[in-house]
Amino acid sequence: MKIAIFGAGVAGLSAAIELVDRGHSVEIYEKRKILGGKVSVWKDSDGDSIESGLHIVFGGYAQLQKYLSRIGAENNYHWKDHALIYAEPDGKQSFFRKANLPSPWAEVVGGLQADFLTMWDKISLIRGLYPALAGNEEYFRSQDHMTYAEWHRLRGASEHSLEKLWRAIALAMNFIEPNVISARPMITIFKYFGTDYAATKFGFFHKNPGDSMIEPMRHYIQERGGRIFVDAKLSMFDLKEDGTVRSAIFSDGQKIEADAYISALPVHSLKKVIPTSWLSHDYFLNLHQFSGSPVANCQLWFDRKITDTDNLMFSQGTIFATFADVSITCPGDFQNGDGTANGGSVLSLVLAPAHQLMDLPNDVIVRLVMKDIHDRFPLSRNAKLLKSTVVKIPQSVYKAVPDVDKYRPDQISPVGNFFLAGDYTDQHYLASMEGAALSGRFAAEKLVSKLGA
Ligand SMILES: Cc1cc2nc3c(=O)[nH]c(=O)nc-3n(C[C@H](O)[C@H](O)[C@H](O)COP(=O)(O)OP(=O)(O)OC[C@H]3O[C@@H](n4cnc5c(N)ncnc54)[C@H](O)[C@@H]3O)c2cc1C
Repeated sequence: MKIAIFGAGVAGLSAAIELVDRGHSVEIYEKRKILGGKVSVWKDSDGDSIESGLHIVFGGYAQLQKYLSRIGAENNYHWKDHALIYAEPDGKQSFFRKANLPSPWAEVVGGLQADFLTMWDKISLIRGLYPALAGNEEYFRSQDHMTYAEWHRLRGASEHSLEKLWRAIALAMNFIEPNVISARPMITIFKYFGTDYAATKFGFFHKNPGDSMIEPMRHYIQERGGRIFVDAKLSMFDLKEDGTVRSAIFSDGQKIEADAYISALPVHSLKKVIPTSWLSHDYFLNLHQFSGSPVANCQLWFDRKITDTDNLMFSQGTIFATFADVSITCPGDFQNGDGTANGGSVLSLVLAPAHQLMDLPNDVIVRLVMKDIHDRFPLSRNAKLLKSTVVKIPQSVYKAVPDVDKYRPDQISPVGNFFLAGDYTDQHYLASMEGAALSGRFAAEKLVSKLGA
């Protein structure tokens, strides 16, 4: 079959890997000049790698890790020490380290030892979060009508632990606050964090996600005959009498025909190209239930090291939620001689919540970030900032707010030759690289099984 895939993020590339491996003729159409979507990385005029966002591989990302092995990139990421590290004022750090025991004792003992939680936090958490540890999918689904903050309070867990521990997790997972995110993804993650020891370790790419993952994916697909077109923005579909797709039309007026079509567009982009006649199906109408979380990523190059932490860091009460010194975590890039880097720290920081940042000029954002960096890293106070960049994504991953999960669409649409992939489609992960990889695999498998090829 000839299959056209729109969007070259992790979802589109994963679907393509599955389909070229089954011998199909695959064409990917991507509107930008670079591949990777939200994981894309590009070189600026100084030769510096600019990331759409700092990206971490979790131990539990079974599908993504299978793809990384399949494309020969299994050595392109490295695991870090198994700990949640919180950057505190004046250079202090606090830790949540898993104990060297089987789960859930690893987490219970680790939690009891965490120095940033009070004894009352610990008792209230063990008592309050038990239903999440013991719960099953049905229970998690039944809690989707309330926010995580509501669930946490109903369970009698402490306000301090909500602010200190879980706020950081909500911001890292979906870039929104605990009083906005649904309880469902949060308690699903507790179960997963609390019952699988290896699932929560953090992996960093050796260079950056572009060079270490997206580029090997591109190579794998093209080597097997897949064709990739950039600067190819899908703008509409031409339909047959029965409502199925006859051809796809691009913004420059070009038309292509295929046996089947997969949208691997983000949901907000897909909504713009859905034919009005398809909105008679709830399946397509329900896509309007989704809205994107705004987020920004800031990179800072310093003339000296301001930290020696080789891991992801979390932070509370700062403009950034999660961050890392990529000159330490990613030894294949950001080193002396790579663009601006001179051996000093290169911080990559995810700014969330970011709705109030979208209209601010980048230099103002950098000033706000630097104020908090000076507060958390005393060594930065005498360091020179060599360069800064800000990437804003007004609609990034879909907001996992209450009552939205039930609208996540299956990869098979009601239109015979049209399928969906993308992190927002139905799979058991929240929007993430793993969710995107799973969605791409499901779209390809379901397409092949439905069309019998
Ligand atoms: C700042 C940030 C940090 C993140 N950190 C992590 C992390 O640490 N770990 C993790 O697992 N996940 C993380 N994520 C989430 C992860 O990046 C996404 O869930 C995942 O990459 C989404 O993949 P996707 O293929 O579904 O969509 P996308 O990556 O959005 O890909 C969609 C593609 O479609 C293209 N497109 C759009 N419109 C058109 C059109 N009309 N025609 C043709 N092409 C089009 C886009 O250009 C894009 O390339 C992060 C996201 C951000 C923004």
